[in-house]
Amino acid sequence: MRRFLGALAAALGVLTLGAAPPPPAPADLVLRGAAVYTVDGARSWAEAIAVSKGRIVFVGADSAIAHWIGPSTKVLALSGKMVLPAFHDAHVHPVSGGMEALECDLNGLPTKDAVLEKVKRYSAEHPEAKWIRGGGWDLTLFPDGNPSKALLDAIVPDRPVYLPASDGHSVWVNSKALALAGVTKATPDPPYGRIERDASGQPSGTLREDAADLVAKILPKRSAKESVDGLAQGVKVANRLGLTSLVEASASEEDLEAYAALDAQGRLTARVLASLYVDTDKGTAEVPRLRSLRDQYGRGRVRTNAVKIFADGVLETRTASVLEPYVGFPGDRGKPNLQPPTFQALATALDKEGFQIHVHAIGDRAIRDAFDAIEAARKANGARDARHHFAHIELFDPADIPRFRKLGVIANFQPLWANGDAYITELTEPKLGPERSRWLYPIGSVLASGAEFAFGSDWSVSSMNPLEGMEVAVTRRQPSLGPGPAWIPEERIALPDAIAAYTIRGAYLDFSEKDTGSIEVGKLADLVVLDRNLFEIPASQIHEAKVLLTLLEGAEVYRASGF
Ligand SMILES: [Zn+2]
Repeated sequence: MRRFLGALAAALGVLTLGAAPPPPAPADLVLRGAAVYTVDGARSWAEAIAVSKGRIVFVGADSAIAHWIGPSTKVLALSGKMVLPAFHDAHVHPVSGGMEALECDLNGLPTKDAVLEKVKRYSAEHPEAKWIRGGGWDLTLFPDGNPSKALLDAIVPDRPVYLPASDGHSVWVNSKALALAGVTKATPDPPYGRIERDASGQPSGTLREDAADLVAKILPKRSAKESVDGLAQGVKVANRLGLTSLVEASASEEDLEAYAALDAQGRLTARVLASLYVDTDKGTAEVPRLRSLRDQYGRGRVRTNAVKIFADGVLETRTASVLEPYVGFPGDRGKPNLQPPTFQALATALDKEGFQIHVHAIGDRAIRDAFDAIEAARKANGARDARHHFAHIELFDPADIPRFRKLGVIANFQPLWANGDAYITELTEPKLGPERSRWLYPIGSVLASGAEFAFGSDWSVSSMNPLEGMEVAVTRRQPSLGPGPAWIPEERIALPDAIAAYTIRGAYLDFSEKDTGSIEVGKLADLVVLDRNLFEIPASQIHEAKVLLTLLEGAEVYRASGF
């Protein structure tokens, strides 16, 4: 008690005398002269930041920063450049995406010919490869997203080819791969997949959803080194784009080994929340395995208290689970990956174990089933700070939107997709009709409902760049098109919300909001420096902003050349 009174007197003394506090110890790093958008509760701005031992020790005006600068303080004078909390990606595949980037990488190629040219070049440059692997081709480059084996046979007749589409829900193979896997006219479609066929019933070269497993099961197993190299590449891409916190969207045990290995080498320059892949066919029998993976791999920069459930497929290929049949396909409502009673039992068991549940839900029926599953879990186990979240969430029955807030579920959008491109106009809207298409990616309505929300990329399905995602959330237009009319303009959101979705809201989703997501004293110095102030440019130019510097706990993990 005496000690307490002494401290109180000392504090009162300072207050009553109005003396300045003792000069602080010099900081390790000072950023000054910046436009610092702190994303604190008041969304306030500052000019300077001081960092000591990886944490933020001061945020405020340039005029007050001199105290923090000593002889060994590193000072960055930023002449008006923008500083933000480093970004969070709430749904990303760093291991598989990174491996794909190091193999036959077809992401972003604009034409069918460019894709074929790349496959041809890659196979010529890699005579040692027993399989041609990689992927990332765009569904919209081929009629109905359905490329043929003949296109590949003409280039690679002698070795098997296995190329997933950029969305990961279709795979393009050649005749050699089908022959090695024994997939023929007589092979039936698996329950949750489809073998595309020609007029005579022969497999034509594209495999949807679980049909890909017919060939995937004979792929040579990736080496541990390939996974670690892939992950290192994925993290490098992330740091270059200002990201230091990642939600791994679907972690296998091999992926977890790669995270553990990279972290042990001191090269994992991002915080990771890994969502452990759940085999929905096994249902609640998966729980003990998931518990032991959680215990074994949750250390260092890797946290593992989350699981991933795939509730359905994708709209473009009619594998998403929808409430009403697809237009032109009477009776076809897609297929949920698990029936509601199984889903509810699984969610209840996982919630009881304390896992955060991360659901892939795209069609309006999958979204409803997922809400029903969380509701069942809450009823059985009681409400807790679970932060379950649904990713992708493309097509809604608007009646379900208020359930995010009601059930405490976080809406995890991939906003880059909400832009009216060919995926929407050619492959999606015709299958839904105009009335239902109005409820594609209703980001504005979900925010207006008071739901918690966060954004992610789903890389390598699409670009990992958060600035592109922010722009589309604000404009509902393809970033390359410049200014013009928005696609479903009612669903646009404001820039502060789009920034929050990649910072403080992402931090809430990954349970790190006490340490990251905003620039406040006491938090970790995970920061990003941009070459321009996003609030001072037209929204259609947000994607042109460049990351100059990314800091993780005050340490540089990316610096642009010339900065
Ligand atoms: Zn994904």
